[in-house]
Amino acid sequence: MKILVLNSGSSSQKTALFEFGAGDLPDPALPIWERKLEWKGAEDRQSAAAEIIEELWGGSNAVIGSPSEISAVGHRVVHGGAKLTEPVVIDPSVKQSIADVSEIAPLHNQAALQGIDLVEKLLPGIPQVAVFDTAFHRTLPPHATVYPGPYEWFERGIRRFGFHGINHEYCAHRAARLLKLELSSLKIVTCHLGNGCSLAAIDGGRSVDTTMGFTPLEGLMMGTRSGSIDPGILTYLMRKGTSGDQLDSLLNHQSGLMGISGVSSDMRAVLKAADEENARAQLAFDIFTHRLKSGIAAMAASLGGMDVLIFTAGIGENSSQTRDAACAGLKFLGVSLNHDKNSSVDGDTDVSAADSKVKVLVIRAQEDWAIAQKCFALTSL
Ligand code: AMP
Repeated sequence: MKILVLNSGSSSQKTALFEFGAGDLPDPALPIWERKLEWKGAEDRQSAAAEIIEELWGGSNAVIGSPSEISAVGHRVVHGGAKLTEPVVIDPSVKQSIADVSEIAPLHNQAALQGIDLVEKLLPGIPQVAVFDTAFHRTLPPHATVYPGPYEWFERGIRRFGFHGINHEYCAHRAARLLKLELSSLKIVTCHLGNGCSLAAIDGGRSVDTTMGFTPLEGLMMGTRSGSIDPGILTYLMRKGTSGDQLDSLLNHQSGLMGISGVSSDMRAVLKAADEENARAQLAFDIFTHRLKSGIAAMAASLGGMDVLIFTAGIGENSSQTRDAACAGLKFLGVSLNHDKNSSVDGDTDVSAADSKVKVLVIRAQEDWAIAQKCFALTSL
């Protein structure tokens, strides 16, 4: 059974094909084919994506004989809102629910809807499954869900959801397997540090706290997003004439590593500039790791302890300096890194010191594989 995964983001689209056979697959399994498109600006995204998908069965690099070999298509959908809390086979009412929530996450959910429409055209009749980044956080308790504004906000649907759930969940399961321990016995803090950054507190496999909220803007400092700031800044700026749309752009696109360093939203470029004694780049790194460290401690407090600390996604997997700086202040929680292992990570690696009370792991994000598995589970019955 072949499953195509479309991971349509605001700035790129990843497409991958997985093959499920009769026997057990390795976990994680590698795709038999994958492509990534980075969006540059005003290109025609639907036709660019269509060309990539058609490469699967047409042209000299074809990996399947015809589109009918694809049994199902899985999509990453960033925001499921309050209604969509499990992977679901897409029908017109699911599409409408995804469109309804796109008011909260416009860039992300519209990209997923375009992907769904494209598959309807290219592969008519093939079951499509939506897998939501918010779904894993459906177990957040009320005190981690409701904002301390007027209660009426909550009644209107303004509440915390949390994101990156597909990867937070995958990492928790992967950690238990790597450590040969029962997930149900573990208190885990996962640090998803990519272009977007969020933490999750996972108790016995259930998400009990996370740093992103109503939108993927709350919490940690990110590539171009501010993360949490004093909301009084917003009312101050609005009174001074900044519009809602301008605030949205400032907070989502002109803040974070980019906004502070003035160099780049990419941690590699920020670290390089800091090495060259660019003071604002150094400040950007220091704010990033200061907030990361406080966030990890807050997640540990929500859990009442921490057995495992996981670093994942672009920065989490690749930046030993970030892991080092975040862990340096966490000795009091029992976190101690093995510096040799931390500076030579290869694949999923235990980087904790022998005497560390907390296991510190680096785990490669495998979102597409996680989506393919959920899609397989729903459509192979
Ligand atoms: P992701 O969203 O998971 O693809 O992560 C992308 C981000 O990871 C980039 O914008 C960089 O900030 C970061 N990144 C990737 N490779 C490295 C690296 N070797 N060192 C530091 N940061 C990196």
